[in-house]
Amino acid sequence: MLSVFSVVIPKKKWGQNFLRNRAAAEKIVAAIEPRPGEMIVEIGPGEGVLTEKLMTLGAEVMAIEIDPDLAETLRHRFGDIVLNADALATPLPARPFRAVGNLPYNVGTPIVRRVIADPNFRRAVFMLQKEVADRLVARPGDEQYGFLTLYRQLFASARILMTLEPGSFHPRPKVRSAVVVLDADRKPYASDEIIDLISAAFRMRRKKLVNNLTNFGSREEILEVLTRAGIDPNARAEELPLDAFVRIADHLRRLA
Ligand code: SAM
Repeated sequence: MLSVFSVVIPKKKWGQNFLRNRAAAEKIVAAIEPRPGEMIVEIGPGEGVLTEKLMTLGAEVMAIEIDPDLAETLRHRFGDIVLNADALATPLPARPFRAVGNLPYNVGTPIVRRVIADPNFRRAVFMLQKEVADRLVARPGDEQYGFLTLYRQLFASARILMTLEPGSFHPRPKVRSAVVVLDADRKPYASDEIIDLISAAFRMRRKKLVNNLTNFGSREEILEVLTRAGIDPNARAEELPLDAFVRIADHLRRLA
């Protein structure tokens, strides 16, 4: 008899690199630790290697799979918990949830951004390209430190659970992967205003901060804002921690 693995032809456009490392699957699912009343949202269940383990945790599961062929096969195994939908557009639960997934590489970053900014998000255990995981956990001055690091800090803490080589997947991806655990830690000042500021600050990475912020005021005004915020006028965004951007946002608001 054919196994479920042998009949699935992976589709590149949906980033289908299926996990074939059982120990890693166990470790990912063990890291979710759902609390009573929390839902589990699985993103991109694929062949169901994580789904079958999630079903044993005792929490309500919702699995969102974009590929109609995979979704149909999964529905035969797991029932109505499987939605054939795009995880970037499907409403997230209206009650506390934990998210999990071996994310498709092409949409990994927007999925992380969407999930952690949701008010009902509690924890996510996500497999990502190692390079994206490094950006999530980077520190000021690191090469990977940037917009995604600071965006993540607005909503969550982050740690790397493990890294995986391409041989853990079928077909083998070109890059290494890492599993990141993100725990909700929403800052009271998280807002579109500060996200816009951080985004502008990193627009031209090698430029001085003042030169990236000229949409917010004249050069003189921005230099004044930086001085009042206690920031070196020659600083680059990549050297500054989140609280420096919070102070800049405060002083920019006073300009308006
Ligand atoms: N979880 C499975 C595993 O570990 O073997 C599959 C992982 S595979 C890297 C990514 C899965 O996400 C694929 O099944 C793919 O079809 C699905 N996918 C891709 N884009 C998606 C999207 N926007 N929304 C939901 N699922 C998506």
